[in-house]
Amino acid sequence: MADILIYTKTFCPFCSNAKSLLKSKGVAWTEINLDDQPSRQSEMIEKAEGRKTVPQIFIDGHGIGGFDDLSALESQGKLDGLLGLQGERASSDQPQCVKVAILGSGPAGLTAAIYAARANLNPVVIAGNEPGGQLTITTEVENFPGFPEGVQGPDLMVQFRKQAERFGTAFKTGNIAKVDLSKRPFTLSLENGETICAEALIISTGASARWLGLDSETRFRNRGVSACATCDGFFFRGKPVAVVGGGDTALEEALFLTNFATAVKLIHRRNEFRASKAMQDRVLKNSKVEVIWDSVVEEVLGDDDKGMTGLRLKNVKTGATSDTAVEGLFVAIGHHPNTGPFKNLLAMDENGYLKVTPGTTRTSVEGVFAAGDVADSVYRQAITAAGSGCMAAIDAERWLAEHE
Ligand code: NDP
Repeated sequence: MADILIYTKTFCPFCSNAKSLLKSKGVAWTEINLDDQPSRQSEMIEKAEGRKTVPQIFIDGHGIGGFDDLSALESQGKLDGLLGLQGERASSDQPQCVKVAILGSGPAGLTAAIYAARANLNPVVIAGNEPGGQLTITTEVENFPGFPEGVQGPDLMVQFRKQAERFGTAFKTGNIAKVDLSKRPFTLSLENGETICAEALIISTGASARWLGLDSETRFRNRGVSACATCDGFFFRGKPVAVVGGGDTALEEALFLTNFATAVKLIHRRNEFRASKAMQDRVLKNSKVEVIWDSVVEEVLGDDDKGMTGLRLKNVKTGATSDTAVEGLFVAIGHHPNTGPFKNLLAMDENGYLKVTPGTTRTSVEGVFAAGDVADSVYRQAITAAGSGCMAAIDAERWLAEHE
């Protein structure tokens, strides 16, 4: 069995995701929690060749990277080999047939699972590359009904999952590579090579964070550039940072970062925010946040030794460029729907969101239902996702009853 070491933090959803994936493999690991042992932060950065994000995972002394890298190894079928598990999973390669398969484990998928499990449909949830969905990388959620004092997003998703498990939902780690919707039961191929067949399918694969698309952004990703302030803000204690975006996520991240950073520059391409009024008021009142309006990031500056050192900004109205010294950049510019595997199989709108029959969760293929952000470019709230997850399970249950 391989020797596994993980550097983590207490409030770090990607750390939890990495540990869940390793746990699903039945392996043990040594954990160094930097909240408990802050003096080991520089040891981690040095071992990880300058990476300033958690988790950092080492297998037999070899740096793997973070959760995304671990998950990519799983998708490519290479993880078992690295963990010394090859040859131990032959029986799981047999296709498993279920009544309902649910793709995605955010509020939509887990609510669908709760309802489907209570209807004795024995659902299997394929948790996806971001188990728990977007709420696991947010902080406090103030508008989910039933929590008058607010609730932490990751805690809320743990409760969703426990409730789904209580009624017998089965979970699988991993992501969908390919689906065959041409005949029933539908066939789902996971990126790790596993195959599942399902009589009905609920797609709740959500949406993923968008990146700016700059080469320099890719170059400094994990070395200053991040999409998760709650995970990585800690590395920027006493340093100036920037956030790009003008929606609720960007403003929430900017506020969160004021707990660590000396200054937070909030860069927005227009002269008004898209975020809710309550969030705008909080940001504009916070003296640590400086809003840079009408501006875009043209380049992330830095070098291999120092990592990221600043940003080149461009004012979109005047065309003027200027450099600003910051050591971190948090990108919060919205999301794109995770519908890649369904291209040319299911009807989508021009932005790639799945189309459903209004008032239902029915997609263009009978027996396939869609719930949550993957089919909602308008509301995109945890509560609306949960509501549509409930609808999808009821739609699937009725459809199965009619077709038995
Ligand atoms: P949004 O789509 O709401 O906002 C994205 C922001 O990024 C916009 O301000 C947009 O600018 C900007 N942007 C998009 N592309 C680029 C680009 N290429 N370069 C620069 N800027 C860009 O996404 P969010 O993730 O903020 O929010 C998604 C949903 O989740 C919303 O419905 C939001 O209300 C909700 N949410 C709710 C929270 C809460 O209630 N606690 C917390 C977080 C999110 P522009 O405005 O010009 O289009």
